[in-house]
Amino acid sequence: MPSPDESGPFFAVKPLSRPLSTELRHGIAASPGIAVGRAFVIDRRRIKVPKRHIPAEEVPSELVRLDEAVSQADLQLERMKRKLRETDEEQTVVILEAYQLILHDEHMINPTRRRIRDEKMNAEWALFKTVEEIKARFDAIDQEYFRERRSDVEFVGEQVLRNLDSSTAADAPQVPPPQGAVVVARDLSPADTVHLHKSMVAAIVTDAGGRTSHSSILAQAFGIPAVVGLDTITAAIGTGDLLIVDGNRGEVILCPSHEQVEEYRFKARSQHQRIEALLIDREAPAETKDHARIGLLANIEMPDEVPYALDYGAEGIGLYRTEFLFLDRNDLPREDEHFMHARGVVRRVAPFPATFRTFDLGVDKVAPFLAKMAGVAMGAPTDSEPNPALGLRSLRLCLRERGMFKAQLRGLLRASLHGRMRIMFPMVSGVQELRAAKAILEECKEELRREGIAFAQDIPVGIMVEMPSAVMVADHLARECDFMSIGTNDLIQYSLALDRLNEHVGYLYQPLHPAVLRMVKRTVEAGHAAGKRVAMCGEMASDPLFSIVLLGLELDDLSMSAAAVPLVKRVLREAHAGEAKRLVQELLDLPSAEDIEAAVRDYMKNYLADLEDLRPQR
Ligand code: PEP
Ligand code: MG
Repeated sequence: MPSPDESGPFFAVKPLSRPLSTELRHGIAASPGIAVGRAFVIDRRRIKVPKRHIPAEEVPSELVRLDEAVSQADLQLERMKRKLRETDEEQTVVILEAYQLILHDEHMINPTRRRIRDEKMNAEWALFKTVEEIKARFDAIDQEYFRERRSDVEFVGEQVLRNLDSSTAADAPQVPPPQGAVVVARDLSPADTVHLHKSMVAAIVTDAGGRTSHSSILAQAFGIPAVVGLDTITAAIGTGDLLIVDGNRGEVILCPSHEQVEEYRFKARSQHQRIEALLIDREAPAETKDHARIGLLANIEMPDEVPYALDYGAEGIGLYRTEFLFLDRNDLPREDEHFMHARGVVRRVAPFPATFRTFDLGVDKVAPFLAKMAGVAMGAPTDSEPNPALGLRSLRLCLRERGMFKAQLRGLLRASLHGRMRIMFPMVSGVQELRAAKAILEECKEELRREGIAFAQDIPVGIMVEMPSAVMVADHLARECDFMSIGTNDLIQYSLALDRLNEHVGYLYQPLHPAVLRMVKRTVEAGHAAGKRVAMCGEMASDPLFSIVLLGLELDDLSMSAAAVPLVKRVLREAHAGEAKRLVQELLDLPSAEDIEAAVRDYMKNYLADLEDLRPQR
């Protein structure tokens, strides 16, 4: 129950409805890998939390409503336990038993009853406030164990709220998906994906979503195969159905035959072996035959991805999306927390550099704590914004919410002595915003100096180039920052005017659109003219199909999902930079994305011959 309108990471299960015969569905290949498993269909219908003052005479009936909703939740949990016992899922049964204890705990029930009785609040609001209060108490304790208990309370509260709402009362109770399940959902938030990773699900399949939506990016980071944009897959699958998910081809097979299951299990094993073979070159540099050297770095969302990134041969972190760690938080992250996380990351990445992107909150990365901020109340980065992608998000939100921004910057500065830190500002639209962000950074440095707190003196400060306006003034920006990194996920979204989360316009997401290539070229030239390195950290950098184009566009560094590093490295080590530049010259003269793509595919035929089924298909 992170906010009145959001449901938590555990979900109501849609009942069984097996498809009758084998069926192949095509979607968007969002995260590579093959999985065979049983479906777990989740239903994220929103829970309503109305707020109402009730007259004194309604108090007794409101108390009865509460009691009934609690008893109903108890019954639902009991029924679910019985079902799970039949399938030997004892681990989940234990979780449900813990939920039942919380359900009847006096700390949950008594304050809720008191609010109804004394404050004359309706049952939904009284319960919501109680759960919020308990969660805040857990938040104040800085231990993993208590954070987990906090979400248990949240799930139980949510279930009772469902029962209080007649439109959701019939829903089955919230249960975690079993390990090895294929999760099927209409859509998932990044926070949901983190929880699914913790539950060790085998694959994710969704109706909505795009290749560069943040849930897809997280699925890649966690190595969970995912197919998104399947439109109506939730209607065709029931919990318990057997599925094959091919995250490379963007395909889902419903009701597969025994032979298909064997075939895909074999494919999965063979892919795994070939990736292992590529990792033999882990330590080798990404150097072309004619000795051009490109830095290959990894994008991460969570500090614990660092060892995987290094294992895949990344030479540092080119993009650490720092906001993901805090997406389920009710309270603002404190300076000390930033410091501790950042110190852990720079230490583990050293001697390589670690690039910390400052908070890029908003759109699908909305943390509950945002609702509490003063500035946000005036134009919230929440559902209430008509155009969140063009709204109060990312750096503009940080410039408005200086307290939140300064806590992060001070934490990062304090951690800088423990490794090679680089700071990067997202969504910079022009020089003025860059100056404003740098001024706040300077203010933080000045404060730390006055407080006698040491920090590194040579922290490079860079920007992401992800808006057409930044491309057009890249020459000015390059003079005022230390490095630039092109974020193609947003650059494509904003220049082609297509919502990266919307599966219906997914087909327009074309990294090889001539406008995109020209923008990349312009940015690289502007950076180089100012003597600055230019990187790319959007998903375009992760696909080996584009590696030679990016080499020819003279990018200095490519930062990508860790698992892509060995594939991209393999292509670059076989390539010639001179030839790549000539190829790009030709491509830049072609009029459409389709023409360019045909030429690139033709050129890449030999390079990709044995990598084709390891990369996501477009
Ligand atoms: C991008 O926009 O390309 C990028 C790397 O940032 P994010 O995907 O987090 O928006
Ligand atoms: Mg971006």
